[in-house]
Amino acid sequence: MIDYKKHLLRKLMLKNIKILKEKLNKNLWTENNEILDSHLYDQRGNIKGKTSLLLLPQNTADVVEIVKVCDQYKIPIVPQGGRTGLCGGTIPNKNGKEILLSTEKMNNILEISKDNFYMIAQSGCSLCDIKNKALENNRFFPLTLPSETACTIGGNISTNAGGSAVLKYGMTKEVVEGLEVVLPNGEILNSIKNIEKDNRGFDPKYLHIGSEGTLGIITKVKLRLFPEIKKKAMAIVALDSIEDIINFLNITKNQCYEYLSAFEINSRIGLNLIKKYYNNIPIPFNNKYNWYIIFELSSYDNLDLDLKIKNIISKGLNNKIVSDAVVPQNLNQYNNIWKTRELLSEAQKIKGKSIKHDISIPINKIPIFLNKANKFLSAFHEDNILAFGHLADGNLHYNISKPEEMSDTLFNKLHKQINSNIFDLVNDLGGSFSAEHGIGLIKKKEFKKYTSKEELIIKNNFKKLLDPNNIMNPGKVYN
Ligand SMILES: Cc1cc2nc3c(=O)[nH]c(=O)nc-3n(C[C@H](O)[C@H](O)[C@H](O)COP(=O)(O)OP(=O)(O)OC[C@H]3O[C@@H](n4cnc5c(N)ncnc54)[C@H](O)[C@@H]3O)c2cc1C
Repeated sequence: MIDYKKHLLRKLMLKNIKILKEKLNKNLWTENNEILDSHLYDQRGNIKGKTSLLLLPQNTADVVEIVKVCDQYKIPIVPQGGRTGLCGGTIPNKNGKEILLSTEKMNNILEISKDNFYMIAQSGCSLCDIKNKALENNRFFPLTLPSETACTIGGNISTNAGGSAVLKYGMTKEVVEGLEVVLPNGEILNSIKNIEKDNRGFDPKYLHIGSEGTLGIITKVKLRLFPEIKKKAMAIVALDSIEDIINFLNITKNQCYEYLSAFEINSRIGLNLIKKYYNNIPIPFNNKYNWYIIFELSSYDNLDLDLKIKNIISKGLNNKIVSDAVVPQNLNQYNNIWKTRELLSEAQKIKGKSIKHDISIPINKIPIFLNKANKFLSAFHEDNILAFGHLADGNLHYNISKPEEMSDTLFNKLHKQINSNIFDLVNDLGGSFSAEHGIGLIKKKEFKKYTSKEELIIKNNFKKLLDPNNIMNPGKVYN
């Protein structure tokens, strides 16, 4: 028997590819299977898509050329940056009809103005290159993610990425001054200007920040830079309870609000993972406490931040909030302490399957959340439950690893129920089921369930207005 649906899809796919190959310059695409295959997996290796063509534009004109053809022939495009996204946003549909567009060759930094504190770059530049270029010019670009060598600035903007510097500098949207976007009809929306103020009604660039490639392709970005950081000081402190951590955050903010640039939570379970999978990294305090906070102060001048760190720790110790503290004495110790936090996602990946939650909760309700969530999960040994993340902005990564003795089938069966319980609880506490990773492919159901009717109408209508042929990352975010 012929599967007509499959047959028709294949015909359509072959037609799409033929059109693109005929219409586009040869250096704009590849059909090389090995290259294609490396672009088909999500970061966690859980989802795999299918495609027969990868488009590799080098500049805005190339993107315009591609998008115009795709819009005319209704060929769906999946934009890809560094493919470090954690929600499957870069994975094409399994039917193979969608074409990939990678910004990897759009990786030039175009302009940097030291005096006016901005940088203009193509969207495929890695975050790491952006940060390094700023540093070379005695400037600082604050976005800080463990994935920074691989992720692109276009991907960061498309996901409105967070990270550990949100506390001081805000989410990515706060450091974007202008964007150039190729819209789904191939026209260019350009908001890159040389002026600070431009108050002509609402600013459409904000529609594209966090839109996960569903409203157009970001081609160029203008980023806000800051003065070079002259002084940094950090410590890791050990604490007994989550309530103590919140009290310690208050002490830190009260004493050093303007300098506080990171406040990251880790736990005994997290340090155990690092100890198990990265035995070259020294484990602070022999891991004998329940909770740990890495906090960092930074300043644009040569302030004595070490003294401020010591004062904060003393206050924590005197108030019996802090149990112990380590202040690194050299760069190597500093880097190793940060690694105990930054390598957590990778360590958990090595450990095996896990159910991940990227949630945000009003900070004062985090103890209630942890208490109730741990109760839902009483069937899991506590060593399988890892809570870590950017506590000072209420963002927790709350992940449950598959116990060794549990079958994959049972773990997969529990996945749905656990997600539902956790997300309902987060919603009841006034939080969000997606703090910084976005919606992509894997959180569409939650997007619909936990977003108000009014917000859904606005978002769906903008999608229809900008992309009437639904060619931009179809099947992601929206239904
Ligand atoms: C180890 C690790 C740690 C991480 N830590 C953090 C963290 O602390 N905070 C955080 O927020 N995220 C974190 N992430 C997630 C990820 O790094 C971010 O979401 C990042 O912003 C994605 O950038 P990317 O270039 O890899 O985008 P991709 O994964 O390639 O794409 C992400 C989405 O953006 C779209 N897109 C990409 N480029 C463009 C473009 N030019 N125009 C239009 N759409 C585009 C894609 O279609 C997709 O929907 C982490 C990931 C890893 C692997």
